[in-house]
This record gives sequence, C-alpha cells and structure tokens, in this order.
Amino acid sequence: MLSTTARIDAFAKCRPPDVLHDVIYPYYQPIQERLSDVEVVIDGRRVLMAGSNDYLGLSNDPRLKAAAGEALRRFGAGNSGSRVLNGTLESHQRLEGELADFLGHEAAMVVSTGYQANLALSSLFGSGDLLLADRHIHASLIEATRLGQARLQRYRHNDTAQLAELLRAADPATGLMIVTEGMFSVAGDLCDLPGIADLATRFGARVIVDGAHDVGLLGAGGRGAAEHLGRLSAVDVQTVTFSKCFGTTGGAVTGPAHVIDHLRHHARSAMFSASLPPACTAAALAALDVIRTEPERRRRAIAAGRRLRSGLAVFGLPMVAADTPTVALEVGDAALCCRLWKELFDQGVLANAMLPPSVPGGKALIRLSVTAAHTDVQVDRILEAVAGAVRRVSPAHHGAATA
Ligand code: PMP
Repeated sequence: MLSTTARIDAFAKCRPPDVLHDVIYPYYQPIQERLSDVEVVIDGRRVLMAGSNDYLGLSNDPRLKAAAGEALRRFGAGNSGSRVLNGTLESHQRLEGELADFLGHEAAMVVSTGYQANLALSSLFGSGDLLLADRHIHASLIEATRLGQARLQRYRHNDTAQLAELLRAADPATGLMIVTEGMFSVAGDLCDLPGIADLATRFGARVIVDGAHDVGLLGAGGRGAAEHLGRLSAVDVQTVTFSKCFGTTGGAVTGPAHVIDHLRHHARSAMFSASLPPACTAAALAALDVIRTEPERRRRAIAAGRRLRSGLAVFGLPMVAADTPTVALEVGDAALCCRLWKELFDQGVLANAMLPPSVPGGKALIRLSVTAAHTDVQVDRILEAVAGAVRRVSPAHHGAATA
C-alpha cells in the first residue's frame, strides 16, 4: 500500500501540472476503517471528517444499520434489475408513499442515486420549453438540461432580477421552468425561493428544486429549504438524495401524480438502471422516520455549523455567507487551495478541495461540512487545523488566522 505522500508523488509524475494543481492530489483518499460517526482511518492515521454530507449523523446509526441488515438478509445484496421489469420491491413503494406524504406531493419515484433523480428530469424538458437555471446548479442538473429538448438560459446565482428579465423576454407560448437547488451544494447558501415563487406565479412558470442538501436538514419538520423559507407549496417538482441527510444512497423525485407517472415511463436514468438495493431502501425508510421524529438532530447540525462559522469569522477568513453546516472558504487560487487541503489533511482533518469544474476558474474553495454528530471539541479541532493551515500556507492571511 502506497503512503499518501508516495501517491501524491506518483501523481506528480503522471498528471499534467494544470490537472495536478501544484503536485497535491486531494481526491480519492481511500478510507480503511470507520472509527466513529465522524472519524475514519486513512493511510493508517486517524482522520476527523469535515467533508461529509451526513448532516444528521445517520450513516452509522444503529437503527439504519439494523434495518439495512434485515433487508439484506431477507432480500439479498441487490435487485438484479430495473424497477420497470423485475426490480421493484414493496419497500420502494412504501418509501415513495412516505416521501410524497412527507413533502406534501401527490407521488414520488425512488431511483438509485440523487444524480439519477436529477437526470430523470430531462424527460420533462420538452422542445417547446424554456429552462431558466441558476448558475450554481449541480452537475447532475446541468446534465439533465443537456439531455432534455428544452432551450436553456442560466441566470446569475440567486439573481431574481435577472430571472425576471429572462421571464419577461420569454415567448408567452413557451412552457417555463425554473430550476434551482434549495441549499446549494458547493457553498451551503440557500436559494431565494420567495423571489422565485413570486416570479413563477406572475409568469406561470413551474418550479423545480433539488433538495439534495436540505431535505432532512432544514425547516421545522425537516422538509428542506422550501419549508424553511415558507414556500413549500411553491415547489412543483422536488428531487431528493438519500446520500446526505438520509445517511445511505439513493434518490427520488416527488411531484404531481401525472408527472411522476410520466417519469416512470420516460425517465431513462430510472428505467434502464438497476433499482435501489434492499439495504439502502430500508435504511432510507428508517432515516425518514428519524428525520420526522428527531428535530434535535437538525438543530445540532445547524449549531455545529454556527460554531464553525463564528470561529472562522474570528480568524477573518473570507467565507460565502450562509447559516448551514456547510462552510465554503474562499481561496481563489487552485494551487493554494490544494496546499491548504494538504495542510488540513496532515493535521488529521479531511476537508473538500473544490476546484474547477465544480467551481469557476479562479474561485477555488475549501468546503468544510459539520454534522449533528460533531462535538464542540471536534468542531474546535477543525478550527485549530484551519488556523494552522492558513498560517503555514497563506502568509496573506497569517495575521488574521492568529487573531
Ligand atoms: N444534487 C446535488 C445538489 C448534490 O450535491 C448531489 C451530490 N453531491 C447530487 C444531486 C447527487 O446525489 P447522489 O450523490 O445521490 O447521486
């Protein structure tokens, strides 16, 4: 087994410098063991997770593991087929019913990943439609817009004034759809759903929200950014992933019954791919139960995010403004971002280095995520590691980070 340093050196030899980002390769770090909800072993060392979207700390929860284990024993390790043919379980349908009910929609379709849920949307994007999408939408939504037949226009991130201009200029005969994330994945900020909802009503547009990061985490009942922002009923179609708050893997689309029925018979990412395995389906059902009944997990995750943010603010580090457990440190330069990532890693903290194409050129970020499972002591350890990393790597921030 190569050490991390040896792997980095090996990459240095075989990757071109522009891809290599200053000889540090921050990706594909193999986890050898899980020690606790937020600690893993990488390269034989104990590492504190600060880059996971397991916001409610459920992926290691005994109830999810018991449900998954039981489903594994009863139904096997996989379904060996798509939902359409042989791969639909009763538990898929139960999950669909419960999710639709939870999010206040008529129906839901469960698929194998959140990425596939978003790709499924492409079958709704017909040639007479105009899609208006936030510039910061996730890669899977961008892919869906490319696969669909509709014309696409992007508006500046959360810029509802520009969105209004585009809507005003649109041919009234066109079907209009607005596509956004609830909580944006890269920087943890929220969409301006009240603004979007008002425009949608004025111009007769449909609203599609990817709630990958916020369903389970935000809103008094955990129904996501739409509930948190008081606009639950403004969302026509919602996508969800089980890989974040639900602590497992999988995804779903919820919406009106006729839309979901259309997806069941036209969405290629769902129809031509194996269905969600029994264990993940059972874990998602167990997670939904926890999401409904344990709001304190949301509060703990948000509190951990606030502790992290206020500590970083004391250091004077530039961050994208938000009030969620995901904090984006604005670094800018990709090589500097990789060096910061490596310093954090060397101090036993795994963060996310967000480089192009996840972010625009020159806008590299260090993304830190904390969860309901992080203790105050662990959040403070992340803060110390950031202060140390900034001191060593970025002399420009030296004074600020030691303040
Ligand atoms: N949408 C957003 C906003 C995401 O951040 C992600 C995952 N990073 C996805 C969709 C895809 O979800 P999954 O991991 O379940 O494929």
